[in-house]
Amino acid sequence: MVYLSKEVEYLSTNNIVEALTLLSKYKGAVVLAGGQTLIQSMRIGHSNAEVLVDINKIGELSYIKMNDDNVLSVGSLTRHAELEKSSLVRTEFPALYDTISMCCDPQVRNRGTIGGSVASALPSSNYSSVLLLADATIIARSLKGVKTYASRTFFKSALTTVLSEGEIITGIEFPDFEGRKSSAFAQQNITANSPPIANAAASIVVESGKISHVRVALGGVTPSPVRLDNVENDLLGKKISEEQLREASKLTGQGLKSFSDANASKEYRLSMANVLVFRALRRAYDRFRGVDI
Ligand SMILES: Cc1cc2nc3c(=O)[nH]c(=O)nc-3n(C[C@H](O)[C@H](O)[C@H](O)COP(=O)(O)OP(=O)(O)OC[C@H]3O[C@@H](n4cnc5c(N)ncnc54)[C@H](O)[C@@H]3O)c2cc1C
Repeated sequence: MVYLSKEVEYLSTNNIVEALTLLSKYKGAVVLAGGQTLIQSMRIGHSNAEVLVDINKIGELSYIKMNDDNVLSVGSLTRHAELEKSSLVRTEFPALYDTISMCCDPQVRNRGTIGGSVASALPSSNYSSVLLLADATIIARSLKGVKTYASRTFFKSALTTVLSEGEIITGIEFPDFEGRKSSAFAQQNITANSPPIANAAASIVVESGKISHVRVALGGVTPSPVRLDNVENDLLGKKISEEQLREASKLTGQGLKSFSDANASKEYRLSMANVLVFRALRRAYDRFRGVDI
């Protein structure tokens, strides 16, 4: 039994068009996926939801597959636990595997969905930096049709995305990129089951001792996740060494406006950011040379 701060109407459907129709028909209607964030917000009175449109029975929203052009495609209703168990995710995009393997307690992993996490836009979400690392595309559907959003511009600020009212995220696509198979993720938590206060994702490829590909993204330090172009530009073409990775990581905080909350001060977030970027880069390099799988 869950006690909410006010009465709400509950509707459920196994059809995406019907779900979209219900969302547009009822004022204050919101999507219910795993409920791990939404129900908590309703309990403490942070959500204005008046009608819940439960999408859990829409089977077509739950899948993990590789498209012909090597795009790793994940349905929005795919649970964290399903992603963690997927050998495709583990081999094709290890940073995504890392982030899920470090996320949440068993209940949240078994019920929570990738679509719900992305729509929630928690600054510290495990997925945020990984989405930017891959230049992922968020696919959303409304009664007007299908729209795609680039992850770099999808997160507007903390808890806010560019999604319009009446849109449902149907899937997330992780395109192929040079370092996808040697990517890695690192995070810092305050307690074992709390969302991270900061996280970083990185990918690296080395040719003839020099860095020929590098990407770095940071989550939880600024209200929305960011790609660290300055760190990437500093490393590209340089001779690979642990010292080189450590020095470049020190550029992480340049120009970033962090924030303080009950979990951490902005100064702490920024100082951890350097460390996490270094750890993600070093792990990505270890993966690239087969030391860490
Ligand atoms: C105890 C606890 C620990 C947690 N730890 C972590 C952690 O370590 N790392 C981390 O990243 N997160 C953590 N979280 C957050 C959690 O993982 C996700 O935010 C949650 O799984 C969201 O997915 P959901 O399916 O439960 O979404 P819901 O709670 O059902 O929905 C969340 C929001 O997204 C909207 N929504 C859901 N699905 C869609 C869709 N397909 N299209 C459009 N809008 C949609 C809903 O309307 C709602 O506004 C934690 C949460 C709890 C309760």
